[in-house]
Amino acid sequence: MHDEPTLRDRERYKRQLMLRGFTADHQRRLGTATALVAGIGGLGGTAALYLAAAGIGRLVLVHRGNLTLSNMNRQVLMRDDGIGTSRVRQAKKTLRQFNPDVAVEVHDERITAENADRLLRGAQVALSARPNFEERRALNRACVERIIPMVEAAMNGMEGYLFNVLPRAGSCLNCVYPADDPSWEELGFPVLGAVSGMLGCMMAIEAIKLLTGFGKPLLSEMLVFNTVDMEFKKVRTPRDERCEVCGEEKPAASGRISAQEPAVR
Ligand SMILES: [Zn+2]
Repeated sequence: MHDEPTLRDRERYKRQLMLRGFTADHQRRLGTATALVAGIGGLGGTAALYLAAAGIGRLVLVHRGNLTLSNMNRQVLMRDDGIGTSRVRQAKKTLRQFNPDVAVEVHDERITAENADRLLRGAQVALSARPNFEERRALNRACVERIIPMVEAAMNGMEGYLFNVLPRAGSCLNCVYPADDPSWEELGFPVLGAVSGMLGCMMAIEAIKLLTGFGKPLLSEMLVFNTVDMEFKKVRTPRDERCEVCGEEKPAASGRISAQEPAVR
């Protein structure tokens, strides 16, 4: 992590610095930024890999549990000889080998209302990639209260969606999905690794845009796709003024707002 891109950084990130409109200042913002990645499976693991590739300063990875054989069709940070050991520790090892300039902090735990604030400390963006409603809702609520942008994505089989929660500017997860799907099973849905990897890459792209101000992140719009026939479309996701998490009619939480301003511009 560097305040100014060094000569080494300029070489390492040379090809992205060639992007029209992506400047050394954008690279500097990325290099001093922290992202919380909630879930490092097929989605979040891929997103973390590409955030490291792009030169993010610090990654905070949160995912409880050990690596299993059935994770290996999609979890690109993992290695076969790590089966049975801590998933977050394996992820840290891979990411540090990939880009040693990125600081990686890991937490082998689930996200809850109690620990979300602690895990989000110092983060300017969160990536929501856990395959269950409880952790996603806990993270959504904490991000809304702390005014931290959250990239939200989920998949099922060949389909998926992606949108951003930009507190006070657009809809939150609860506006879009006010109720859980009672038939949902956390590990009971099909995954083709290439689909989760593609969506993880798109999460990284949105996070980079939110952190740097480069490009135009999704706002109150959701990208939905079905890769069976490669149909991609955007649908409007208006904010619900009566949303119990982010609605204007709900009294604002006080005393927990971070001094940080989201880098959205
Ligand atoms: Zn809401």
